[in-house]
Amino acid sequence: MTIERSTPPLDVGAIRADFPILASSDARDQRLVYLDSAASSQKPRAVIEAIDDYYRESNANIHRGVYALSERATARYEEARHLVADFINAESPRECIFVRNTTEAINLVANAWGRRNVHQGDLIVVTEMEHHSNLVPWQLLAEQVGARIEAIPVTPDGVLDLDAYARLLAQEPKVVAVGHVSNSAGTINPVAEIARQAKAAGAVVVVDGAQAAPHLAVDVQALGADFYAFSGHKMLAPMGAGVLYGRLPLLEAMPPFLGGGGMIRKVEIGRSTWADVPARFEAGTPAVGDAIVLGVAIEYLKRIGMDRVREHERDLTAYGLARLGEIAGLSILGPRNADARGGVISFDVAGIHPHDVAAILDGHNVAVRAGHHCCQPLMRRFGLTATTRASFYVYNEPDDVDRLVEGILDAKRIFEA
Ligand code: PLP
Repeated sequence: MTIERSTPPLDVGAIRADFPILASSDARDQRLVYLDSAASSQKPRAVIEAIDDYYRESNANIHRGVYALSERATARYEEARHLVADFINAESPRECIFVRNTTEAINLVANAWGRRNVHQGDLIVVTEMEHHSNLVPWQLLAEQVGARIEAIPVTPDGVLDLDAYARLLAQEPKVVAVGHVSNSAGTINPVAEIARQAKAAGAVVVVDGAQAAPHLAVDVQALGADFYAFSGHKMLAPMGAGVLYGRLPLLEAMPPFLGGGGMIRKVEIGRSTWADVPARFEAGTPAVGDAIVLGVAIEYLKRIGMDRVREHERDLTAYGLARLGEIAGLSILGPRNADARGGVISFDVAGIHPHDVAAILDGHNVAVRAGHHCCQPLMRRFGLTATTRASFYVYNEPDDVDRLVEGILDAKRIFEA
C-alpha cells in the first residue's frame, strides 16, 4: 500500500524502545500488542523517570511556600502551563487551567460558565457521537436551569449531518459542545467550520479534544474554540493532570467551579472574593507532579512532531482499515477513508460478542477495548450495544495490526467451529 506522506516516517523501533512496558511478553512468550491508547496511553521512560525525579528533587506544595523547594515546584508547575499553552497555541498560559482530566474540564465549563449563561428554555447543542463526558455534564446543567438539549445527528457513514446542524443553529443555541475526534467512530469533525457557524449564531463553542490533542497538531485559535478540554494520560503523561483551555475574557467573567484554598483573594465568614484566572479554577492542591510531567510528555511529542504523529497514525489506520476490511462478517464504524479519521477503529464481528473478541485477543496478548466506549447514543444509532475497538499511537506498527487480524481470525475459528 502506498500512501502520500508530507513528513518522514517515524522511527517506530526507536520510539518503542522508549516504552519499557512494550518489551513485556506473556506466559506464552507473545509480545504485548497494546491497542488501547484511546483509553490511556503507555508512558515513555522520559515520563516515568520525570515522575521519579519530581518526587526525589522538587516535591513541595506550590504557590504559598517561601522556601526554595516550594518555589522550585511552583516554577516547574508554571513552566508546564507555558508548555501546554504553546502546544495548543493558546494566546496566554493564563488560558490553560490544570484539571484532572477531560471530564473535569467539561464539568467545570458546564458549571462555572453554564450556570451563569444558560437559562430556562435555552438550547444546548451536542452531537450524537459525544463521549458521555461531553453529554452528561450538559444534561446536569439542563436539568438545573431548565434548558433543552438537541444533538447533531450522525449519518450512516459516521459523520455529522451538517444540514441538520444548520437547522439547529437557526434556533440560536447558547452552546455547541462537540468532540474534535470521535473515540468510537474515529471521525475527525470539522471543528473549525462548526465553530465558525456556531459563533455566527451567537453560541459558545466547547470542544472535547480528548482524542485529538494527543494525536494531531491543535491550534485552539485557528479552530475558534472558546473552550478546549483534554487529558494528559491519553498523551503519554501520568493519570492525574488534564487541561481546560478557555478564552481569557470568558474565563475572567466566570465564577469558580470548586471553592477552597488557592482560588480566593479575600475570605470573610459570610463571603469571599476570587483570585485571578487561572488560580480561580484551581481550588485546593493540584496534581503538581502530574502537571509538571505532562510538560515532559508534551516535550517528547514535540520532539517527534505532531504532524508526524498524525501521519503515522493515518498510515496505520489505512493499513488497519484495509486488513480488517478483508475479514468476512466484520463491519467497521465510521468513515472508510483514513484521512477523515483518527487512529481508532471500532468494529463488530457478526455473531461474536465484542467481549468474546477482546477476551480471545487477550489470549494473543493483544490489548483492545470492548464495550460502548462511553458512547451509548452512538452505539444505539448503529443498532449496536458494543463494539471491539483498536486504537493506535506513536509506538504501534503494522505488525500490531497483523497480530490483531490473526486474533480476530482465531475468534472466528473458535466461534464458527
Ligand atoms: N472524551 C473523549 C472523546 C474520550 O475518548 C474520553 C476518554 O476516553 C473522555 C472524553 C474522558 O476522558 P477522561 O476519562 O480522561 O476524563
